[in-house]
Amino acid sequence: MKNIIFIAPPAAGKGTQSDLLVKKYGYNHISMGDILRKEASKKSEIGKEVDEILKSGNLVSDEVILKLTEKILTGTSEPYIFDGFPRNMSQAKILEETLVKFNKTKPIVIYLNVNKEEAIKRATGRLNCPKCGKIYHKYSEELKPQIEGKCDECQVDLISRDDDNEETFKTRYENYIKKTLPLLDYFKSANDLYVIDNPIFPMEIFAKIEEIIK
Ligand code: AMP
Repeated sequence: MKNIIFIAPPAAGKGTQSDLLVKKYGYNHISMGDILRKEASKKSEIGKEVDEILKSGNLVSDEVILKLTEKILTGTSEPYIFDGFPRNMSQAKILEETLVKFNKTKPIVIYLNVNKEEAIKRATGRLNCPKCGKIYHKYSEELKPQIEGKCDECQVDLISRDDDNEETFKTRYENYIKKTLPLLDYFKSANDLYVIDNPIFPMEIFAKIEEIIK
């Protein structure tokens, strides 16, 4: 099974696809956003700083990301998914060097090409289970919870992420266009790059991803 980097706008479905890959193929899912949210929930100085940045929709400094990357890669077995990392050119370089250092296989890159209108709809409709982390979407027939506002598995109330509002989405999307999207050119030559255009239905996208990774 191939290692994967997902590149996509915020709320485009990277987390949903990663969950499916974990369940069916036993992938290790490395979500930089989840790691940073955990860091932000700590009351440490760095935790408070990260919390402020997450709420603003800006990117956390490369210095913090660099420290986390080595720690993550030493403790992760293959196959793995990088979700939300790298997000700019210097992080791509950090990742390339760290993979060589730890003798890890190069990942392929899957780009989910979702347009801005669709991404904002998904961000404002996204709900998360605070207990198991499962992701739901109010506006998707496939991803709606069975009982409105409740996790199908844990029965607890679903919540929205602090940064899934229209205002913060704008900053997250601008950062994506300016800093992350240019990585596609780099990945075209440095890795195998696969593009999935206008991905709408989660299980259809998953079938395409399955063809790519096998
Ligand atoms: P995500 O869960 O991928 O939507 O990320 C949520 C937030 O975490 C982003 O808006 C950034 O503030 C931060 N973040 C996630 N991944 C990175 C990264 N690779 N570099 C810097 N900041 C990140």
